[in-house]
Amino acid sequence: MFEATLRYNSPSDKDTIASSTEYLDSLVIPARMLTANRKALPSNLQNYADEAGVSYYLNPTLSDFRVGDNFRDEKGNIRSWHLKYIEAIGDPLEKLLQNNSNVSAAHLPPEQIESLTAASVEFQENFVIDQLTEERDRYDPIEDVESYAPEAVIPWYHKISQESDLQTNDTILSAAVDASDLPLKPCLFVTPSFIAQETNPEALADLLLKHDLSECFVWIEDLDKHETAESHYTHAAELIVELAEAGIAPHFFYGDYFAMMLSHLGLSGTTYGTMYGEEGGERRERTSGSGVATRYYLDGVKDFLKPVAAVDVQQRVDAEMCPCDVCSRQFDDWSDLAELANDPEQNVQAPMKKHHVRVRWHQIRTVESQLLDETLSELERDHSKYASAFGRSNQVGQKKKLDYLLRWKHAIENVTS
Ligand SMILES: [Zn+2]
Repeated sequence: MFEATLRYNSPSDKDTIASSTEYLDSLVIPARMLTANRKALPSNLQNYADEAGVSYYLNPTLSDFRVGDNFRDEKGNIRSWHLKYIEAIGDPLEKLLQNNSNVSAAHLPPEQIESLTAASVEFQENFVIDQLTEERDRYDPIEDVESYAPEAVIPWYHKISQESDLQTNDTILSAAVDASDLPLKPCLFVTPSFIAQETNPEALADLLLKHDLSECFVWIEDLDKHETAESHYTHAAELIVELAEAGIAPHFFYGDYFAMMLSHLGLSGTTYGTMYGEEGGERRERTSGSGVATRYYLDGVKDFLKPVAAVDVQQRVDAEMCPCDVCSRQFDDWSDLAELANDPEQNVQAPMKKHHVRVRWHQIRTVESQLLDETLSELERDHSKYASAFGRSNQVGQKKKLDYLLRWKHAIENVTS
């Protein structure tokens, strides 16, 4: 089954996840968040596994230090979540970050890469188990505590934008193979221009085959539906075909609806946030940390819209109310959604996130079970249904166009026909 993986990036997602486990297969959690929530998070993960069979992966925070300064505050001190992670990993990471602004595997001698990789692998394999075991001494015994290890270990990854970056990842993977007991699921973090070069998809498959690896995450930087050209989508699909034909099961590290269709070309899973998180870049500048704007995920256009824009568009196309349990419990018709979104007293984000997780699950299971041709025809139908409503609505941003629906369709057709 195509794996539905949710990014659990913030403690504020806890309520959404706890009430949505039947619509998820697994979670990806930043390792730094685990160190900062070492009491509560391991037992939550234990509950999700027991109640719904939801497994987890830890995103190796080591990769955060490659570029940028968003792990430091205005004075240059390391922020608290990162600091706790650094303490858990120990040296040489602590010393490296005292003496350098960043830590990039490309500039480290192989011994240091090996030592950092081993520490990061050890952290992923044992942190949750160790915390649960510590709690067990005080409370009820936990049976089979080893079963609460992550689904697989993600070795830290070094962005691949040129050939020499393959060598850096090769050094990391060698060390990870030596250090790990659990299966490895490396993340191939690549730029669109790297995979556009003809021999590079094969070079990526060879990198994994060399280490006898049979699964991986694939993160194609900034595959933003509004910015990505058809040719980049075609290259993305070709990479998935290349990996699958080499016997490797690829899993998107960030993915929108396009990723779901790739299930028919060999993609084994996809990952998204509770709100947004469909694409990602290595932007590591310090930000002001302003809150996330609330958006409603509209199934018909496979994108997030301002709630008032979603309501306006749905009314224009005369759409039925969303049938998910969250919407059907809360809204009689679309105007109720607009009312909720405008009510400052209400927590709007939680229902929007829960709705999104449910719609995504439904999309994944539908796309997976029907013929690819049927899904491609639906895309075309959705495009004609919504394009004019988008054009006429004053609520939808001027620049928002639905062309990506057709770019996705054409890219898949380029590879399959
Ligand atoms: Zn809904």
